[in-house]
Amino acid sequence: MPALADSGRAGGEAKPLSQFVLKVHGRCDLSCDHCYVYEHADQSWRTKPRMMSPDIARTAARRIAEHASAHELSRVRVVLHGGEPLLLGPDRMDELLTRIRTPIEATTRLSLMMQTNGVRLDPAMCDVLKRHGVRVGVSLDGDRAANDRHRRFAGGASSFDPVRAALALLRSPVYRELYAGILCTIDVRNDPERVYEALLAERPPQVDFLLPHATWDSPPLRPDDRATPYADWLSTIHQCWLADDRPVRIRIFDGLHSTANGGPSGSEQLGADAVDLVVVETDGRYEQADSVKTAYDGAPATGLSVLTHTIDAVSRLAPIALRQSGVQSLSAICRSCPVVNQCAGGLYAHRFRTGSGFDNPSVYCADLRVLVDQSNEESRVHFAGAKPEDIGLMPADLVAQIASGFGDEPTIGWLAEQQRAVTRALLFATIDQHGPTEAWNALTRIETSDPEAVRRVLAHPYIRPWAVGLLRAGADPAGLGYLGGLAAAAAVHASVPVEVEVMIGRGVVALPTVGTLYWPDEVTGPARLTVDQGKIWVTGADRTVTVDLAQQVASASWQPIRRIPLGGWEIRIEDGDPARECHRWSPAARLDDLATRHWRQSLTEAWRLITTDLAEYAPALRAGLRVLVPLEPDPDGLQRASTARDAFGSLAAAPVGPAELAVLLVHEFQHAKLGAVLDLCDLYDSESQVQISVGWRPDPRPVEAALQGVYAHAAVADVWRLRVGRYPGAAERYAQYLGWTVGASAALRNSGTLTPLGVEFMDRLAATVEEWVV
Ligand code: SF4
Repeated sequence: MPALADSGRAGGEAKPLSQFVLKVHGRCDLSCDHCYVYEHADQSWRTKPRMMSPDIARTAARRIAEHASAHELSRVRVVLHGGEPLLLGPDRMDELLTRIRTPIEATTRLSLMMQTNGVRLDPAMCDVLKRHGVRVGVSLDGDRAANDRHRRFAGGASSFDPVRAALALLRSPVYRELYAGILCTIDVRNDPERVYEALLAERPPQVDFLLPHATWDSPPLRPDDRATPYADWLSTIHQCWLADDRPVRIRIFDGLHSTANGGPSGSEQLGADAVDLVVVETDGRYEQADSVKTAYDGAPATGLSVLTHTIDAVSRLAPIALRQSGVQSLSAICRSCPVVNQCAGGLYAHRFRTGSGFDNPSVYCADLRVLVDQSNEESRVHFAGAKPEDIGLMPADLVAQIASGFGDEPTIGWLAEQQRAVTRALLFATIDQHGPTEAWNALTRIETSDPEAVRRVLAHPYIRPWAVGLLRAGADPAGLGYLGGLAAAAAVHASVPVEVEVMIGRGVVALPTVGTLYWPDEVTGPARLTVDQGKIWVTGADRTVTVDLAQQVASASWQPIRRIPLGGWEIRIEDGDPARECHRWSPAARLDDLATRHWRQSLTEAWRLITTDLAEYAPALRAGLRVLVPLEPDPDGLQRASTARDAFGSLAAAPVGPAELAVLLVHEFQHAKLGAVLDLCDLYDSESQVQISVGWRPDPRPVEAALQGVYAHAAVADVWRLRVGRYPGAAERYAQYLGWTVGASAALRNSGTLTPLGVEFMDRLAATVEEWVV
């Protein structure tokens, strides 16, 4: 078989790789008979050094740093692997991690992981891993009987007890932040329910089930010639997991649920996610993923090394480039398979057959087909009648991502989707309270023909504050007139006619996402509004106004929505909707042209600064921020900015220059992100009366306010850290915000008010902050 380097280069531009598996130790203290490193076709481990030298580690890290810099990667992931990485011992591990971190962290953010058998994990090693922020995944195949089937020492002794001791250590409060999860290799002779219970008992943050590596040349065990034993085994666990209300993240099931809804799989085993990973062996040679070892001797080899080649050179190699091109790279059979988008040929290595190489369906094809269909059906039955927000799967690393201070676009998009579901539920609650109205009926009618039009309107951030206000007001139905504006806006988007009653409130009727109608003298009262053939007619308070929507022209009676384009996305200026009056300060009245120009220029320049100076905050803003509400300026010239907990996707601010606005956008959107997480996750005891001392205010704060303050100030500290040397006073401001963040974090951590998830959140945030201080 040819080495990868001989099997052709894709040519063209190198695609970035962001995951790097470093084989820091090439031997293992266990002798598991299902191990793909020692027991499968590839036997190259015999010729490689026992451990990675510090020089190789440093060279590999430099290659990664140079690759991250060239491709402007905001984050890379390095997984310490083996053999068994713990065989390095704490001192060598410490030295190696220092060598790895230094060059990489000078150019990008680094997530460090370790995959281990766990038997040598002790407090000394945990201290080292904690100091370097390494998260630890441990291999365990289930209960004692299941684990002992394969995972034994060379002399035959069980590894079960030392592994469980390692898991207990990772669960202890002092090392809990290290605990990444459990990797379980399936053996269908093990009882699936007992395996599931045993894994659950270790309280892991995540479980990964791995199909045992096999190929068409060396097919998997199929006891009693059963057709789909692996699908049946996993299906039993899937049903238990659903019945238990998904008590732990299980990667393969999360992936199946996600791909069923068109999302990513988050795994190499199933789904068409791009595989952007390369392995660096103990001698510095680049290899493909370890699973490929199962195909044939020498299969993962690339012929390239960190000593002689860049990562771009590896990325251009045909098989690596191919694995980043999704479904198109699959065999013809897979490409025509009805479940290809969820299965995508399974794990690459499992497709191998002598003669046709990897151009085949998976050797697990029958199982995968049944697994996809069964899990879809089981989910459909389980979630029948459930609300959409209950079904939407939380991204596996939601808390970790948000706690790190950022959040990528899919995660923030997912949070925004949950917020829309909350808005919708509140809208239904208002109708339950007051009964359906003409406008409600119109809205539901429009949704039947054009759901996207209604969805666009319901994404408006101020519908939720309006609904909350109406529900709190109880019997007063006057506010229901706002629904007329929503129905009219949806009709405009759907290009369908509608006639509804609207309520003029202090001279204004808002059509969220479309524009605002104005009357003189702040009149109040009902009006009749018609949308038809691209025009709006509204009659009320002694006048009739006609708006030609095609012309998008502002007049005394009509202000079309102002959109500020920001290169692929936009922010709307909202200066008409009465529901925006939920902020701490009064919103500015309708803007004139000069004020609009100011905001246009400020936002455009602030966004440019964010994308150049504060790029890691940009994806979240792009995915979540939709509306800016101008506030009245402070009479003493103080800065004013605010985020309303109920209005995700918007923020309010008084006029300010671009550099300050950039900080303010980052700061305020932190509040929005955390607020959205708090809607879904209990991070603290909401009954607690404890007050937390914080540096930024003289009075102690309730727990949620302190949590919000810590999270937002951490981002501001980061902003000023990144500006040190370029903005006057940046170092002092960095020190101040950092001090506030660290002080209040410690106070929160010691308050006893945080839930275990809240502790995990704070520990993650603290780990991010610690990276800056080092
Ligand atoms: S079920 Fe089989 S044919 Fe379909 S995508 Fe998966 S491996 Fe390919």
